Amino acid sequence: MMHQMQRILMALLLGLIASWAIPNLLLEIPRRVGTSPPIRLQTIVDNEINANRGFVNVFDYRWLGIAEEQFTATRRFSTKNQRKTMELWWAWEVFPKPRQTLDQAWIQVRLGFDPTEFAVEESQYSIIKVGFPALSFRGVVAINAKAPLANSTLDSQAAGFFVPPINQPMTLNKFAGTQSMPATTHIYAPHDPIWSGLIFNTVFYALIFWVLLSIKRAYRHARRMRQGRCPMCSYELEFVFVDGCSECGWRKDRVSTKSS
Ligand SMILES: [Zn+2]
Repeated sequence: MMHQMQRILMALLLGLIASWAIPNLLLEIPRRVGTSPPIRLQTIVDNEINANRGFVNVFDYRWLGIAEEQFTATRRFSTKNQRKTMELWWAWEVFPKPRQTLDQAWIQVRLGFDPTEFAVEESQYSIIKVGFPALSFRGVVAINAKAPLANSTLDSQAAGFFVPPINQPMTLNKFAGTQSMPATTHIYAPHDPIWSGLIFNTVFYALIFWVLLSIKRAYRHARRMRQGRCPMCSYELEFVFVDGCSECGWRKDRVSTKSS
């Protein structure tokens, strides 16, 4: 019984570690091969930004284990700078957010960033979510793309990341007027939990680890019994299994029930 509990706890712990480590390792893939084409959404927002425009572009990039939603109030961010694309099965959210909350997402994503440094019309805001198979961690990034800094990096700020992707060099192509997108060139390690996804992934990986630990345990039992030892504690029983094990009590309760 104790062994069973230990095995479940061990599996859950390993599951939790895996649910964080695996998506962060997977971030290497889009850095190397590029992203799949974005799902482009355009939504009309309350006319708080600009009397002429009143819309927000959302580029929804998704690939294995990662989703990135880029929010911009202008058309400036095109997808021309796409590198070679690759279609992969992507992660999903356990409770997907309904489309109609996009306006709220736009307002939400800008909160926490200084509006003088990251003016709405000059900045791109991104929600980056990682997790596999369910998205389980998130972080938010703001980039002021209109004003490159002297060292040809872009002024950026991030919230919810272990490795803050602040002021890291980005390739600026003056002729094409484009820049490389941050998620495809930088390592992110978001840590704000998406609880539904985190619980799902932890249980998902815990089940895998539990099966592996069970197989390992069954194999160890069989090996010890072949050697004539107690399967639980490896005590030398000289192939006399019917009496149970005096060392750890294996089968002892059963033997005593029989004899009484
Ligand atoms: Zn024993």
